[in-house]
Amino acid sequence: MPHIVIVGAGFAACTAIKTLRKKGFIGKISLVAPRAELFYYPSLIWVPPGKRDHTDLIVPLHDYLESKNVDYIQSKVTGIDTSAKILTLEKGSVDYDAVIIASGGRYIQKLPGIEHAKIACSGWEATKEFSDKLAAMNEGTIAFGFSGNPNEPSAMRGGPVFEFLFGVDTMLRQQGRRENFNLVFFSPAPKPGKRMGEKAVDRILSEMKKRNIKTYLGKKMKRFTENSVETEKETFNADLILFIPGMTGPDWAMNSGLSLSEGGFFKANEYCQVEGEDSVFVAGDAGSFPGPEWKPKQAHMADLQAEAAAKNVLETLQLKKVRHKFRTELICIVDTLNNASMVYRGPKRGFMMKMPPLHWVKVLYEKMYLKTYIK
Ligand SMILES: Cc1cc2nc3c(=O)[nH]c(=O)nc-3n(C[C@H](O)[C@H](O)[C@H](O)COP(=O)(O)OP(=O)(O)OC[C@H]3O[C@@H](n4cnc5c(N)ncnc54)[C@H](O)[C@@H]3O)c2cc1C
Repeated sequence: MPHIVIVGAGFAACTAIKTLRKKGFIGKISLVAPRAELFYYPSLIWVPPGKRDHTDLIVPLHDYLESKNVDYIQSKVTGIDTSAKILTLEKGSVDYDAVIIASGGRYIQKLPGIEHAKIACSGWEATKEFSDKLAAMNEGTIAFGFSGNPNEPSAMRGGPVFEFLFGVDTMLRQQGRRENFNLVFFSPAPKPGKRMGEKAVDRILSEMKKRNIKTYLGKKMKRFTENSVETEKETFNADLILFIPGMTGPDWAMNSGLSLSEGGFFKANEYCQVEGEDSVFVAGDAGSFPGPEWKPKQAHMADLQAEAAAKNVLETLQLKKVRHKFRTELICIVDTLNNASMVYRGPKRGFMMKMPPLHWVKVLYEKMYLKTYIK
């Protein structure tokens, strides 16, 4: 029986397992990850208003893995020997017939003084610290920003920063204390969020104006201090900073010997196959994929890529030519706590709409998505 190893336990990994079993694969599947948990990042935006706790965001996967007859190996992958078909782990190794890399990306934390910012994307702790500090403040300036990876323009995560910003603005208004705070937004990009389309950027920036949010755009960032953000043009006060840096590939990519993109991600073809490898596939944030310049790094794309990768793995194991390509699609519900806008971009068309029920669509989607994994 062939043995498929999946690296990671996030969106791409879970979808790969689901697809392999749905397609009738009865062979051995192993999953290697430090924790058998799915972290549902999209709902981190609801931590500052107290609408989500860590138990809502972290879904234990042991029962799901058991139900799909998947062996869980608690470890981290540190390397790969593709000629011997072996993955090296922190402790020991595991052999494979095919592997799906779904170990996500990392955030570049090189900016001087970055320790003064709350890196909300890194998980529960940083977002909780941000929320607790904000709750304890009576007044001040709160700065929200994101930047990119200069070597890989698609490796940025801006949407959640808009959501944190608008969500905090709404929350402070609901609490009757918005006038005590200055909210500011900064980005080295002159048109932040451009991948969502020009119209979407214009609408987001005009929403900031309407909400009295000052912007600092288009200037390279130099450093953070305890109470300021410094760009190459100016320094502005910030008592609390929420920041999402640009992304790069997972820690083990650099020394893996696999083909990497300029930005440090596993370089894949349109079939999610790592360049130059027959039996190594990648899905989600860990990979760099061909596609339009607006291609997003999103959970939705991770799912689409994982589905294609899983189907292609099965074809590879049957010594067939791989033929499943993934669709590139940007679907983003930018939530503001009591309203939301949806941005869609696909191969042929794009649109944006704004209406309060979209907030509830996002809430409902979370419930439906996680239902599969909560046993
Ligand atoms: C605040 C926030 C809000 C977001 N909102 C949305 C949204 O609304 N919609 C959307 O589509 N996307 C959203 N995203 C993006 C989405 O969360 C990511 O694109 C998605 O998590 C990528 O999935 P993944 O499976 O590739 O990686 P991850 O979910 O990051 O999973 C990676 C897995 O690999 C494991 N791992 C890491 N290194 C190793 C190793 N060496 N060996 C073994 N395992 C390893 C990790 O522990 C983890 O289990 C948001 C992200 C953030 C931060």
